[in-house]
Amino acid sequence: MTSRAAALRELHDRILTCRRCPLWKVRHHAVPGEGPAEGTIMIVGEAPGRQEDAAGRPFVGAAGRVLEDLLVEAGLARGEIYITNVIKSHPTEVKGGANRAPRPEEIAACRPWLEAQLAIINPRVVITLGTHALQAFRPGAKISQVHGRPFTHEGRTIVPLYHPAVARYGARELLARDIQRVRQVVAGVGREP
Ligand code: URA
Repeated sequence: MTSRAAALRELHDRILTCRRCPLWKVRHHAVPGEGPAEGTIMIVGEAPGRQEDAAGRPFVGAAGRVLEDLLVEAGLARGEIYITNVIKSHPTEVKGGANRAPRPEEIAACRPWLEAQLAIINPRVVITLGTHALQAFRPGAKISQVHGRPFTHEGRTIVPLYHPAVARYGARELLARDIQRVRQVVAGVGREP
């Protein structure tokens, strides 16, 4: 195992027992993230949903299926990308309950984990899904204004996309167009670390 992979595994173990915010009381599993420690690309979503909470893995439900289709359209495979979320526990009021949006204090409590993941993996490209992930890199930005328009943050290229859940509300075409920006960006930076 490489030292990066070992550091990532150790970080995941710490996230699995995290109690930095009260969501630990209502989760089945924390969802640290998954994918190669040595990858060029990281995807940051919003938060684990009910299915992710049950599985302990990111993007295994309906949004995950949309995401995988989009990746294929960008010429990418899920297995070559590290996938995580802004917060690592399912935001809900009761165990196994309905999703709600993450609260600012939950996002702030989880922030050091995302920072640590970025520091270990050091991806060249970060694809953000939805408003909360975008605002982790550009506070206050509006996804409706910047989707599909890459920007640079601390030496990385950030590509903001709508969250794949919006595909359910008719924005699939928009996502299909924006994902082509990802293809161009990845072609520009190459895939090797
Ligand atoms: N939506 C997210 O933002 N993340 C997941 O892991 C699943 C659904």
